[in-house]
Amino acid sequence: MDFYDLRMRLNVKKRYDVVVAGGGVAGVAAAVTAAQQGHSVLLTEKSNILGGLGTLGLVNFFVPMCNGDGKQIIFGLAEKWLRLSAEVGYDTIPDEWRSGQPAQPTAVRYTQTYSTYIFALQLLEEAEKAGVDVLYDCTAVMPVMEGTRCEGIITDSKSGLELYSCKYLIDTTGDADLLRRSGMPTVAGENFYSYFAKMITLDGAKRVCESGDLSKLYGGKAYGGNVNLFGDHQPGNVPRWSGLTVEEVNDYLKMNQKELLKNVRSYPKGQAEIAQFPLMPNFRTTCRIRGEYSLGVEDCYRHFEDSIGAINDFEHRFHLFEVPYRALYNSRYPNMITAGRSADGHGYGWDLLRVIPAAILTGQAAGQATALALSAGTEIKNVDIRALQNGLEKQNVMIHFPDEYVPKNKSVVIHGKKLL
Ligand SMILES: Cc1cc2nc3c(=O)[nH]c(=O)nc-3n(C[C@H](O)[C@H](O)[C@H](O)COP(=O)(O)OP(=O)(O)OC[C@H]3O[C@@H](n4cnc5c(N)ncnc54)[C@H](O)[C@@H]3O)c2cc1C
Repeated sequence: MDFYDLRMRLNVKKRYDVVVAGGGVAGVAAAVTAAQQGHSVLLTEKSNILGGLGTLGLVNFFVPMCNGDGKQIIFGLAEKWLRLSAEVGYDTIPDEWRSGQPAQPTAVRYTQTYSTYIFALQLLEEAEKAGVDVLYDCTAVMPVMEGTRCEGIITDSKSGLELYSCKYLIDTTGDADLLRRSGMPTVAGENFYSYFAKMITLDGAKRVCESGDLSKLYGGKAYGGNVNLFGDHQPGNVPRWSGLTVEEVNDYLKMNQKELLKNVRSYPKGQAEIAQFPLMPNFRTTCRIRGEYSLGVEDCYRHFEDSIGAINDFEHRFHLFEVPYRALYNSRYPNMITAGRSADGHGYGWDLLRVIPAAILTGQAAGQATALALSAGTEIKNVDIRALQNGLEKQNVMIHFPDEYVPKNKSVVIHGKKLL
């Protein structure tokens, strides 16, 4: 039986204006934003908590949202949620940024390390407050397509296979799973040997007791592969996984888990405990759509007419970018859009788009664009850009970076390599 037959056999369980597949930070941002405009929204999440890599993946750090010279660049929902995450659990907002943008230039960057699971609970509260129907433990399996138009999705859960219809689909699975399966052109990424758990050691427990600061609990050799986003020191005998087949995911998980066990064995018996595993693979870049524009390092300091928000380089100071709306859709697909890790960026441009603040920003924009498309009855590609930008500005997004933030020296050096 192919999926077409299956669709004929399934009754529509419920009809929604918008289905958002994948409850990472981008998906929650998209769902909340669309629901706040009065539309019915279903958010399906295959795991049991919201937040994706930002919670399940144990990545609990808002990378810098400023230019490295004391100017804030990313605002909107990303900033709201950074502040929200500091309300309960850990608050590590630097003193310079505690009351907003510092009066004086500073190299101290605007970041926050949060309590992983508390933030996941806050995201659920945010989604429910906005009126989003959240379905945990519910995998979006396939889009139901009529040509290039999506009519709904088939889900797999304890209830079996079910069909939800929608007017618009936002794919925030992080891997563009549904858009890929719809036939939309996509590009696979490469992932390094990285797997970060959280470990408690006797030393960590002592640090907590001495300082009274719970955030000092974790430490030690809490990793399998320990390779950074630039792939530095990736062992020659370890593959670079795309992460798009069950075999690759398993190969990655088993290799990393065995390495983690080796690391635990290097401690005297009873002196180290693994407190938390990453409950999704620590893949940074699995799959992105081929959108109408692909953001790259060459776009540094460039303004786009269809910008949906300014972002900054989180690793290097000064570099500024704008995210063109066109990076979120492929114009042949009238009612499908993406956000977060699967937005279209290449090289380091993909890295800039996928991190938590930028993923929230693109999620917010995808939700706002979908709401506008619904109200106007238009295709995603025909959304009125000025109306989209106005709507986002009202939600405190900075659409264009101010020209006075552009440094005199516009050369772009990424990880020690001069690219421009
Ligand atoms: C090792 C590592 C370190 C990082 N460090 C940082 C950092 O310090 N700071 C930072 O800002 N960023 C960091 N990042 C990047 C950042 O965490 C992610 O890029 C960002 O959280 C992506 O958000 P997202 O919502 O686009 O996707 P994801 O977080 O991948 O969320 C996708 C969600 O969709 C769900 N899902 C997947 N498929 C389906 C399906 N078929 N049906 C239903 N649900 C589905 C998943 O369970 C998940 O919840 C790091 C990433 C990695 C891998």
